[in-house]
Amino acid sequence: MPRFFVTERPENGRITLRGQNAHHAGRVLRLRPGERVTLCDGAGEDYDCVVETVEKDAVACRVTAIHPSETEPKQRLTLFMALPKGDKMELIVQKAVELGVRDIVPFLSKNCVSRPDKTAQKVARWQRIAEEAASQCGRGWLPRVQPVIPAGEAITRAAQSETALFFYENETQTGLRAALSRGVGSTVALVIGPEGGFAPEEAAAAKQAGLTSVSLGRRILRCETAPIAALAAVLYAGGNM
Ligand code: SAM
Repeated sequence: MPRFFVTERPENGRITLRGQNAHHAGRVLRLRPGERVTLCDGAGEDYDCVVETVEKDAVACRVTAIHPSETEPKQRLTLFMALPKGDKMELIVQKAVELGVRDIVPFLSKNCVSRPDKTAQKVARWQRIAEEAASQCGRGWLPRVQPVIPAGEAITRAAQSETALFFYENETQTGLRAALSRGVGSTVALVIGPEGGFAPEEAAAAKQAGLTSVSLGRRILRCETAPIAALAAVLYAGGNM
């Protein structure tokens, strides 16, 4: 069923799609009166609707039911991702949103090759990618790509999550299965390094801050593979699959 994120609240039992949403509904999907759509407030609430009228810049929808979105993971997932080279972050953002991440926090660590000066534009582009991915996969929440922060701040913020996982390529003692054997907290932070990996002092700071250093196995995954594998495993362990 077609799904649109809207900022409008229902008025007299109706919501009218305008702008891009109206164009997509009327011109691209060619929706007709009587067809069903789901509108979503981007904050966990869904409006089941029936299209009433279709005009060039306005598609009026009658709300038939309001209920919590049913597509969100049980846990609130935050991905802290060290800035990778090139446009890999676009793939990482898209896949992380499909896998249910609520927040994506890019950070600059010692071994990040990419040190963009205009990070605001990049974050804005990543946010657009996140919103497209959220629409495509039917998310109930509009995920947020946050501003780029230093590694130290990322570690401090990740430590605030009930389950805080530091994915360290040199970790040899604790696998993800063991780390999650005590259950998955309601908030989960996943911290992933760049192509060059984490510096020993970053790993030490993470452990000092209370993050659990975990291994994803004996193979070294690319920085764009690691978050996908880690998120899938956490979703599974958290009873979402
Ligand atoms: N330069 C590092 C090396 O050669 O050992 C590899 C870094 S890896 C490309 C990028 C990030 O993915 C790592 O910093 C880590 O966060 C995560 N990662 C990749 N493979 C991993 C593994 N087997 N266990 C834990 N984390 C892993």
